[in-house]
Amino acid sequence: MSIVNAKDIMVEAAKGKYAIGAFNVTSIHQMEAVVEAAVEKKSPLIIQTSVKPSKVLGREVFVAVYRTLAESAPIPICLHLDHCTEVDYCKKCADAGYTNIMIDASKQTCEENIRQTKEVVDYCHSLGDISVEGELGTVSGVEDQIKVAEDEAALANPEQSVEFVERTGLDIFAPAIGTAHGVYKTKNPKIDFERLGKINMMLNGNGVKVPLVVHGGTGLPEDYIQKLIEMGGAKFNVSTELKHTLIDATWDYLSTHREEYDPGKIDAAVRDATRKAVSHWIDMLCSAGKA
Ligand SMILES: [Zn+2]
Repeated sequence: MSIVNAKDIMVEAAKGKYAIGAFNVTSIHQMEAVVEAAVEKKSPLIIQTSVKPSKVLGREVFVAVYRTLAESAPIPICLHLDHCTEVDYCKKCADAGYTNIMIDASKQTCEENIRQTKEVVDYCHSLGDISVEGELGTVSGVEDQIKVAEDEAALANPEQSVEFVERTGLDIFAPAIGTAHGVYKTKNPKIDFERLGKINMMLNGNGVKVPLVVHGGTGLPEDYIQKLIEMGGAKFNVSTELKHTLIDATWDYLSTHREEYDPGKIDAAVRDATRKAVSHWIDMLCSAGKA
């Protein structure tokens, strides 16, 4: 019961006007901490890994830990592959047991994006209960955030979004609306809320069919998050913040315990800090008690 794809829990979230945190992890300790926080809050959860850690630690290792944790947890948990640009690797992760796959062909032409995304959708659906996320437009790094946010052509066009979703058979959709990866350099990043609202209305106006994903969660002001949820954001990706949390907690611990050689205590410090960060996100996304 606890092993789920992303779409099912996101449809519920979109209907209930809350969102699900999708937390990027690179280690088993982080993964345990993320699950602990979500269990404590009784929140549905999406754990995600980028392609690189899935190759370093191994996709089978991530899946094995995920299944072990999820099967004994009283909440629904999805394991998601984030921003994979290779169709073949998407298929390998689906084979291994990831329950949601993001094919990111957004840098290709629109036709090629459709072709690659559809190939991954068809493959994942043929395997069973695996949902697929696709992206249209450019989710930039923070260094380009303002430039991209002001460039109409770099953001997802609402009509094209509908065509993209219809022709690919996509389950969940990440339209570029000006959010960015990294840490925003300004307190008021330029985000196109109305664009998200319009796309949501066109896709989900008559019942939630294709819930929407917001990338670049780290550092978004809380009132922006609320507004993005209102506009249809049902999954928020949080990556950079957890990387900072891991490094900072490790550094803080080591700098005050330099004479100690007990790796377990470093791991415990990372877990504590990660749990706190994830709990705070769950509160902001209003998903506590929704599992
Ligand atoms: Zn992203």
